[in-house]
Amino acid sequence: MNKNIAVIRGDGIGPEIVNEAIKVLDVIAEKYGHTFSYTDADMGGCAIDKYGDPLPQHELDKCLKTDSVLLGAVGGPKWDGVPGNMRPEKGLLRIRAGMGVYSNNRPAKIWPQLASASPLKPEIVEKGIDFIIVRELIGGIYFGEHKTYGQGEKVSEDVMKYSESEIERIGRIGFETARKRRKKLCSVEKSNVLDTSRLWKSVMHRLAAEYPDVELSDMLVDNCAMQIVKDPSQFDVIVTENMFGDILSDEASMITGSIGMIPSSSLGATSNGLYEPIHGSAPDIAGKDVANPIGTILSAAMMLRFSFDMPAEADDIEAAVGKVLSEGYRTGDIMSSEDGLKLTKCSEMGDLICRAIKASK
Ligand code: NAD
Repeated sequence: MNKNIAVIRGDGIGPEIVNEAIKVLDVIAEKYGHTFSYTDADMGGCAIDKYGDPLPQHELDKCLKTDSVLLGAVGGPKWDGVPGNMRPEKGLLRIRAGMGVYSNNRPAKIWPQLASASPLKPEIVEKGIDFIIVRELIGGIYFGEHKTYGQGEKVSEDVMKYSESEIERIGRIGFETARKRRKKLCSVEKSNVLDTSRLWKSVMHRLAAEYPDVELSDMLVDNCAMQIVKDPSQFDVIVTENMFGDILSDEASMITGSIGMIPSSSLGATSNGLYEPIHGSAPDIAGKDVANPIGTILSAAMMLRFSFDMPAEADDIEAAVGKVLSEGYRTGDIMSSEDGLKLTKCSEMGDLICRAIKASK
């Protein structure tokens, strides 16, 4: 199969981790007889430096012409002072909206090899952590009107708005995702306070009639934040709106050990997706070859699985990651005092995963 992939290296550790993911994709292409070509696109701080804009239309257009987008991370202290609508992170919001990717899918899964890196008590980790957060990505408060006004004392407003159809399309992704897993869907909202949440809840319950094989439950977002640390084994799929999903998915990533391990996919109505690790540009470790590239490598695996319909190739990458972890290789963020662990650089980790893919049948 021939696939063209837009590559946004971005800022900070972005270029380093994306390099490792490309190495892995090239090994997969060779092993399975595919051709992957890459189109570089600029977004974030590097695009501000080059064009004065975090995502100029011509760079977005490049991405829209490819089969999917692989993104490292954007942002950093260098651009902290730029005006709000020109911040590197605006590029992220624009590419999500421009690609129409309304569903963000973040797995929270503990690798058995890294169980000791979880900050949760061993007896909680032993019960298992394996759930997915399906987050609405292009609506809600992040995309509502933002304004600050007033003479003297200033007042700010951020508008949170959802239509029934926006809720329905993400709700369906939640039910379909649960259907392919353990068939439990938890809809998370704040219906005791917010109108958008009451509408959210009513749409989810209307949809439930079409998915009788999926068990739907409701949870208030504040309770969900507690339950994720108290007993994460109760969750299979969580579906929620944009801001709640943003916060809960960062919390969920922490309990699995390291933010550097977690991939994500964002999809809309077509198979073209946006794939990125959930972490940021980690400016504190940029350029030192110490970042963990696994979240990005697993994002590339998700691209193969969800956008390119290459499940065997995705399984191969995930198995190679498991093998390298089982052999004791660790980047600094997932290193512990356990015996036999080997501190591994970012580029070495990519090489080891490539070697494991080549060695597997
Ligand atoms: P961050 O995720 O970049 O870093 C948080 C901590 O985790 C840091 O100590 C960092 O060193 C560590 N870390 C993150 N990824 C790692 C990896 N792969 N390997 C090893 N350690 C890793 O979050 P932050 O410090 O809050 O943000 C830094 C910049 O990134 C900011 O400008 C922020 O706006 C931006 N950001 C971008 C995205 C994105 O591009 N999707 C997401 C979040 C934050």
